Amino acid sequence: MDQYKNFIDGKWIESESKETIKVDDPANGKIIGEISCANKNEVDLAVDAARRSFESRVLVDMPLLARAKLMRRIADETRKIAKEGGELLCYENGKTLGAAVKEFNDVADMFDYYAGLTDKLEGKTIPVSTNVFDYTVLEPFGVSAHIVPWNYPLSMIGRSLSCSFATGNSTIIKTAELTPLSATVFAKALINAEVPNGLINIICGYGNEAGSYLVSHEDVNHVVFTGSVATGKKILHACADKAIPAVVELGGKSAGIVYPDANIDDILYSARHGIFGVAGQICTAMSRLVVHKSIKDEVVDKLVDLSKSLKIGPGIEKDTDLTPVISENQLQKVEGYARSGIQEGAVAAHGGKRVERDGYFMEPTILNNVKQDMTVAREEIFGPVLSVLEYEDQEEAIKIANDTDYGLGAGVFTKDLKKASWTASKLEAGQVYVNKWFTGNHATPFGGYKQSGYSREKGIDGLKSYLQVKNVGISLS
Ligand code: NAD
Repeated sequence: MDQYKNFIDGKWIESESKETIKVDDPANGKIIGEISCANKNEVDLAVDAARRSFESRVLVDMPLLARAKLMRRIADETRKIAKEGGELLCYENGKTLGAAVKEFNDVADMFDYYAGLTDKLEGKTIPVSTNVFDYTVLEPFGVSAHIVPWNYPLSMIGRSLSCSFATGNSTIIKTAELTPLSATVFAKALINAEVPNGLINIICGYGNEAGSYLVSHEDVNHVVFTGSVATGKKILHACADKAIPAVVELGGKSAGIVYPDANIDDILYSARHGIFGVAGQICTAMSRLVVHKSIKDEVVDKLVDLSKSLKIGPGIEKDTDLTPVISENQLQKVEGYARSGIQEGAVAAHGGKRVERDGYFMEPTILNNVKQDMTVAREEIFGPVLSVLEYEDQEEAIKIANDTDYGLGAGVFTKDLKKASWTASKLEAGQVYVNKWFTGNHATPFGGYKQSGYSREKGIDGLKSYLQVKNVGISLS
């Protein structure tokens, strides 16, 4: 079994307690490696390293073109290890090898993108009076702690770390206990890129121990959390206690509205990627389809055909379409949701159960005749389960789509772009996909409405959450 360690102050550190976290392959349940488990001691070491690097001003005072060059070197080194890291990510998370390698390349793209913005973070001058020269400067917060989930372990590191680094913060990343291994390969890219020690630290420990201690640490100035609403609320309380800012990117229950003129192939493409991709463990998963009565039967029939055609298997095997969910716990939860939907009156047009084989595989599931008051229509399932609901008029469709505490993603399928834009204006969600789920990239702002969070990651908007504004007034009299 391979052994992995925490990356603190540029060194590989074993935890003082000698405790480890074992990581399995969701495709068969076999242990593939173990990582030294960070406890309070290692959190203290990581925060101390980040604090020292911030106070040394090594990144803050680095000429901005040099900071950009360093970021491009991180991007290049990340691309070089994308295959090695992607393979480990594929084994520890279960997703397809292609999707796992893409995550590393996405990290590289984010570093390249923000490298180009480091020297464009401009303040402004403010006309106070002829006797005062007043201007603003944008400054980092200091030590920024990032807590990431297991569904997109590397992409989530990439999107927050690239912004944090571009703006001059020193960062500690706490990876998820289910998928901590591939981030250690990324740490190798940081070493190869010669990132000064302490600027980026990567630790893994349990959320309710290392995670909560890190967030509450007196020397942490800024927190970025990506994960569930329940944990996000705890993080917000901890940050409120210290009056420090928190970026929170939380869960979703996204709905796609299907108008009668929709192109069915667009819906099938979106289902394949939006609810069956990564076994539905996607924050903006297309977990509800709100379909016009006139075409619902046709849409459901085609979705069933799609479900039957999916090749279920380990992500490492070529041509696999549907990979396992992350753990036995998650599988039981997802199967329980499908069962509850059926008990509450939905019909399983396809699937509804676990697949009888080794590993944590769930059948691609299409629940028909779902009503918005059912649990499956309200709660985030985080598995390959699509709920199909029916509507008769447009206003009703919007009402159903918005009838949720979440507001992360939403979609609309129609050939009429005027109708699409009207619908987008009514949907309460941070991103609206028209005719194709997931149209964005590193340059498009991403974040939630309502309980899905606030702030934005990615794009130019993403930088705002990592900077504070200082106003300077110079008396000229
Ligand atoms: P989770 O909230 O259980 O855990 C997320 C991270 O928080 C993990 O690293 C965990 O160790 C840590 N954690 C847990 N308890 C903690 C505590 N008390 N203090 C500090 N840290 C703690 O979420 P998960 O199951 O890992 O991830 C799935 C969730 O993440 C889903 O709800 C999904 O929608 C959401 N998500 C959101 C986005 C987004 O961009 N909005 C992206 C990916 C995932």
